[in-house]
Amino acid sequence: MSSDGSNGDSTEEKREVVVLLPLDGARAASAAQQEPLCIFGTGDFGRSLGQRLLHSGYRLTYGSRRPGGCGPVPPGAQVMSHASAAQSAPLLFLCIHRENYDFLKPLAPQLQGKVLVDVSNNQEKNMYPEANAEYLQRLIPGAHVVKAFNTLSAWALQNGPSDASRQVHLCGNDSEAKQAVAAVATKLGLSVLDRGSLSAARQLEDAPLELFPEWRLPVRLAVGLTAAFYLYVLIRDVVFSYVEKNKDVSFRMIVSLANKVFPIVSIIMLSLCYLPGVIAAFLQLYRGTKYKRFPDWLDRWMLCRKQLGLIALGLASLHVLYSLIIPIRYYVRFKVAASTVSKARGNETAVFNNSVAWINDSFYSAGILGFGLYLLLGITSLPSVSNALSWREFSFIQSKLGYLTLFFCTLHTYLYGSSTFLLVSTYKWFTPPGYMLSLVLPTVVIVLKLLILLPCVDRRVARIRRGWERNAQAEEESRKLLLT
Ligand code: NAP
Repeated sequence: MSSDGSNGDSTEEKREVVVLLPLDGARAASAAQQEPLCIFGTGDFGRSLGQRLLHSGYRLTYGSRRPGGCGPVPPGAQVMSHASAAQSAPLLFLCIHRENYDFLKPLAPQLQGKVLVDVSNNQEKNMYPEANAEYLQRLIPGAHVVKAFNTLSAWALQNGPSDASRQVHLCGNDSEAKQAVAAVATKLGLSVLDRGSLSAARQLEDAPLELFPEWRLPVRLAVGLTAAFYLYVLIRDVVFSYVEKNKDVSFRMIVSLANKVFPIVSIIMLSLCYLPGVIAAFLQLYRGTKYKRFPDWLDRWMLCRKQLGLIALGLASLHVLYSLIIPIRYYVRFKVAASTVSKARGNETAVFNNSVAWINDSFYSAGILGFGLYLLLGITSLPSVSNALSWREFSFIQSKLGYLTLFFCTLHTYLYGSSTFLLVSTYKWFTPPGYMLSLVLPTVVIVLKLLILLPCVDRRVARIRRGWERNAQAEEESRKLLLT
């Protein structure tokens, strides 16, 4: 018996409150056809789930500690004691926190053979030695426990699930019980993903506690690279000027340094999107098969390419915005005005340099084309857009146009430093300019990709990806030799 005594004794039975309006003949007939379901707990989740079950045509009974004194329940539902409610339906949703499960123990006879849906979540990971659903199964061994619905929120259920919360993950040891729960979920307009036996419950319970898990590594990388490069250019630009020239240029920390670091990190992260694909191709060439698993680190890296690319696009967009304000900066306007006045005073005539004009226009053009393609990659990675593309169209954009984006952005960076590239005078305290460091990775990726595109290599990679195996061919040849 639970602390509040809601075990369905006779006093409790008498206090049952029927919220359902009196049925007329037609409604009574339709109610008789309605499938009965039960929910334990009239809290937030129980009410939201109940509302949707009623809208989907189920007959609903709530089990509550205080059938007469619980909060409002959706119109059309009955509220009873737990013991009576348990007998009203073959399938029960437990919308109760795990720490209150103890009251279920005395109800074991009424719950024998029933399907119990555990929707519970915990405040944090590893709060208990076993998953809530496994604990429930141990508490009521005669019931068929199914873990489900815990990844949906009460809010989403009430307002109609969005795309992000349209999927019900479920697991359990009894396949018929799982089918029954899946049928209810489907009737609610949700899609179902069977995650296997009840031992998967821990994973399902951890899922709502995850905060953007696939973004964690790319964000950490972006923050780490941004901090490291900011420190690098700060030392080179501001500290160096102060120490060596006794000049205070600390104002550059706000715009100039930011506008140096964002493109550097952006192009490195874009290269990191394409480097694992190149490594995978070389690994397959080396192994002579595509049937050997990639190392875990490479798998994980490949899985976060979309996030790496989107962060890279965000940083490239910041670079574009920072660049747009260059002409209106006080520092820039002052320098232009000062140089014009000094030339006028010295009666100097400016000579138009054709090659500088070519390089400058090429620099801007490569940057604009690179950024345009960058945007295209970002847009096509949106699920609503990628779902409308065939696999060939998607891979054409993300792979072929992706490498083209990397090429234009790399060209843009080479042209940025074209007049001073590798010039010793640009090294401060023996350190090269930041943009030169940022060129290492994209250059390596482009060169490796060009090697893969060589017809002899490309043919071999394509054969391996269609299933050809070097060892299998060697074995076949030696078998033929033995036979002859
Ligand atoms: P809630 O609003 O606190 O409701 C819990 C209900 O449990 C209460 O209304 C009460 O119903 C019953 N209860 C409380 N103490 C009890 C006890 N000692 N013995 C027996 N029954 C007791 O919580 P909730 O937000 O609905 O969450 C319910 C479950 O759904 C939790 O396990 C939660 O992890 C899970 N969940 C919730 C959400 C969400 O968005 N809220 C999402 C996913 C999963 P009566 O007064 O009728 O007895």
